[in-house]
Amino acid sequence: MAITLPELPYAQNALEPHITANTLSFHYGKHHNAYVTNLNKMLEGSPLANESLEKIITEVKGDASKAGIFNNAAQVWNHTFYWNSMKPNGGGQPTGELADRINKDFGSYEKFAEEFKTAAATQFGSGWAWLVEDGGKLAVMKTANADLPLAHGKKALLTIDVWEHAYYLDFQNKRPDYIGTFLDKLVNWDFASQNL
Ligand code: MN
Repeated sequence: MAITLPELPYAQNALEPHITANTLSFHYGKHHNAYVTNLNKMLEGSPLANESLEKIITEVKGDASKAGIFNNAAQVWNHTFYWNSMKPNGGGQPTGELADRINKDFGSYEKFAEEFKTAAATQFGSGWAWLVEDGGKLAVMKTANADLPLAHGKKALLTIDVWEHAYYLDFQNKRPDYIGTFLDKLVNWDFASQNL
């Protein structure tokens, strides 16, 4: 069974005015879709073609001859995870167990937010910033290009895409404004809590 492009969890204009339908039409409709198409082409005739994304990623990670498969499979997974990391009228602070864990492991929500913003702003070039669970502790990490926590034995709870295609149409070169808007207006803490 081929890998398919999952439905967006909301309408393409649902994150406006922060992230526009124009951005999502390219980011979801072109970029995410292209990763799915490329991956399926690369896996034609391979036993991996019938496996889950997670299995494909784990199988080919670190194998230089399969870097194309890794990059496309990881980008399919990362983008689906990113769409779910946002919601219309999102933003603000987490509640419940996740809030307790953030307070325990970062000191406060503000300290977490500072660390997350710094990771996202300082990822040089293309990549991702993440809230992860690592050995029972919450932590922030950043990854380059298609790389993701799964390839490092960590569990992803939340992500922001900091490739320029994620924000350039709406924020131009102002990556920190995009990151601030993500946390203040878009972040989906319900999704992060479900991943705990
Ligand atoms: Mn992207």
